[in-house]
Amino acid sequence: MSLESVELTDLERDDRIDEVVNNFIRTLPEESGFAKLKKEQQEAVEAILDTLRNMRFEGIDGFQKVVTALLQGIAPELERYVPIAIDNAKATLQEKKGVLVIYTGGTIGSAPKDMDDPDSPQVVKPWRDLKLAAPKLGLLGYPVDAIAFVNPLDSCNVGPPHWHAMVNIIEKHYDDYTGFVILHGTDSMSYTASALSFMMLYLSKPVVITGSQIAGITNPRNDAHQNMITAIMLANPMVHNLPLISEVIVAFGNLFIRGNRTKKMNVVEYQGFNSPNYPLIGKAGDHIVIERKNIRSVDNSSVQFHKKMDTNVIIVEVFPGMQNSQVLANILKDGNLRGVVLKAYGAGNIPTDALFLDLFSAFIERGGVVVCTTSCPAGEVVMGLYETSQVLLDRGIIGGFDITPEAALCKLMVLLGEDDYDLRTVKQLMQQSIAGEQRLSLESTFLAGEKKLEADGKAVAVEGELASVPEESRIEKVMLRFMHAQLQTGQNEDPDYRATIRISLESAMNEQSDQYLGTFSRRRVPENALVGTNESVGESLTVDLTRNKHLFLIKESAGRIKAKQKVKIHVALAGDSGAAFAWKGAELNIYTHDQ
Ligand code: ASP
Repeated sequence: MSLESVELTDLERDDRIDEVVNNFIRTLPEESGFAKLKKEQQEAVEAILDTLRNMRFEGIDGFQKVVTALLQGIAPELERYVPIAIDNAKATLQEKKGVLVIYTGGTIGSAPKDMDDPDSPQVVKPWRDLKLAAPKLGLLGYPVDAIAFVNPLDSCNVGPPHWHAMVNIIEKHYDDYTGFVILHGTDSMSYTASALSFMMLYLSKPVVITGSQIAGITNPRNDAHQNMITAIMLANPMVHNLPLISEVIVAFGNLFIRGNRTKKMNVVEYQGFNSPNYPLIGKAGDHIVIERKNIRSVDNSSVQFHKKMDTNVIIVEVFPGMQNSQVLANILKDGNLRGVVLKAYGAGNIPTDALFLDLFSAFIERGGVVVCTTSCPAGEVVMGLYETSQVLLDRGIIGGFDITPEAALCKLMVLLGEDDYDLRTVKQLMQQSIAGEQRLSLESTFLAGEKKLEADGKAVAVEGELASVPEESRIEKVMLRFMHAQLQTGQNEDPDYRATIRISLESAMNEQSDQYLGTFSRRRVPENALVGTNESVGESLTVDLTRNKHLFLIKESAGRIKAKQKVKIHVALAGDSGAAFAWKGAELNIYTHDQ
């Protein structure tokens, strides 16, 4: 399916029929013709108005016909006032910006295929059916317009072409509405919410996605109407005295969740979604409560739409025995494949069988991107915490921290689809929070050079251009990683024997004398076993410099970040004679959190 092929209805403007009817009922008795009626006629007309109050109309024309017909037998002289009263009723509606609903389908808009047989399978119905079944949207006091998929879908059939269509609609109507509501099935809702969050960066308006567990058209007891009304209210916050949520969220049951943090957790309960790794944006109960501090802060940038996607990506979940399976080998050899999201064990661990790991190395060397996430619903991947994940880092697999696999997949699609991004940028951005999808961002400074040190010999220096980190309070960790490291600890054969690495920072950065950063004693590297058959992989040696994080800030001068700030690190070695330390390239990795 091409990205352009989703057929959409025309924009259906809300004529706010409920509001018009209410105004009409209020104002008709004020028309001069009413006063001239006989008392019994007036009472009969009032009874008609009462009846109208409880009826539902599809449009103003339909309403006019019904009123005229009802009046005919009772007060025909009032008929000519009907169009006048309707016009007056319409005129009292102020020109207010409203909400645009994008109806894509899902349980929320489903009903039994055979309406006479409630047990027949549910099929998705057009928007009109849901709108008519829903509570009086017109009474919200602002227009609720809609654009629908001509063929509304079960969300199992929603994917990139439909995300593209949704983003196109929002882009086209961005200035015309206070916010947008997407009605959607629950099955792939987390993917859609994630994809949209990366396709529309720097939003200044709410995009609220919702659906339901019980179909809203024929079931008197359902969660569809509540979810829909709440979502619409969140999309027009000023009118309801609510804070502005300027991001893509899922509002479902009584929880409001950042879209790219959602997980579908329950197939039946009203609380279908949760946010295991990020606090809630808010809750609905008798009041709607929004946690302002959890909303992603908008800077002054204007919204950016990224509509290209590369869909040659997959999610692979690690399972016992996968290392012996030819299937994965075949998948990774597929020439079209560009990105893999690994759902690893726990904190990012996978089998360490060398041949198995070589499959990934070969894919990465061919230009593939592999992102490691956790298959656990909550918690995060810390690459290098266990040896089983350190080997992934050495092979160029990147860590996704606490990003959900759903969000990681969509982010990869968007980043790989962006023509302006080279592979390096894709990998860099994959490790940074661009839409609040992960707790940590990695700012990596490459310190080039192939270096070798002798024990108690002269220190050697490595340098690079410091990646941007302007605030100390945002830094969580600073790690220096030597790649393809070889540390010989000297004559002593005891594997526990250690050499000492001393690290300092050259004065250039701080315009002071050299800063001592720490002394680290380390066993020999490589220790022996874990290096794969692939010669080019190597092992890395990492030291933690977090204690001195204040030294790694980009300094501001006259309110501007100093461009091209250099960082120069000196490394020295102490140990037995014969101790030596060599590496090829180092990285200064600064982990920051968002706010
Ligand atoms: N299969 C449905 C869908 O995702 C389920 C739902 O909406 O809850 O469209």
